[in-house]
Amino acid sequence: MARYTGPVCKLCRREGEKLFLKGSRCMTPKCSFERRSYPPGQHGREQQFRRGRASDYLLQLREKQKARRIYGVMERQFSRYFARAEKRSGLTGTNLLVLLERRLDNVIYRLGLASSRAQARQIVRHGHIVLNGRKTNIPSALVSPGDVITIRPESMRRTYFKDLRQNIDDRQVPRWLSLDTNNLVGKVLNLPVREDIDVSLNEQLIVEYYSR
Ligand code: SF4
Repeated sequence: MARYTGPVCKLCRREGEKLFLKGSRCMTPKCSFERRSYPPGQHGREQQFRRGRASDYLLQLREKQKARRIYGVMERQFSRYFARAEKRSGLTGTNLLVLLERRLDNVIYRLGLASSRAQARQIVRHGHIVLNGRKTNIPSALVSPGDVITIRPESMRRTYFKDLRQNIDDRQVPRWLSLDTNNLVGKVLNLPVREDIDVSLNEQLIVEYYSR
């Protein structure tokens, strides 16, 4: 599946806020947004001061783009998630966020096994993850309640996972997941509800964008 390979920090500058796409670097003064919080491009700095009231369409578009960028999903796949969310009962916006949260790369990130969703995606792509006893290298695989996520035994011998085991902290793991820090075994306890999803998104704007 395709993924965005361009400059990541530009995405935060475009959205006008920190999206935390680069793991620990985002917390340091090296964060590009801390130094240049105006939009990218030749006229970015001027745009910052020229911006008038944004149209409804612009607000909806930006929210949709922000969600895509946070979860690292391309346009076509995102619209498929939306179509799927629409077919389910309940609030479409919440359904959409729940689907995005259930992606395996996001779950790896939420468990603290990676410092960003991009790194989590790479860990999955490189075949380090075992889902319910089967090696899985599909970052978009959706997890369900009862699923067990482990690290492949061969991968556990790697320095990255050895260090992780010593330093991992399970205090940040959301309540719909659990983590055995000694063995790096994650479990999906139930599906997340909106309150469990810690992202600054107004999903209603995304619903309005696709309902035009
Ligand atoms: Fe965004 Fe992180 Fe880059 Fe800062 S360092 S601009 S938060 S991706």
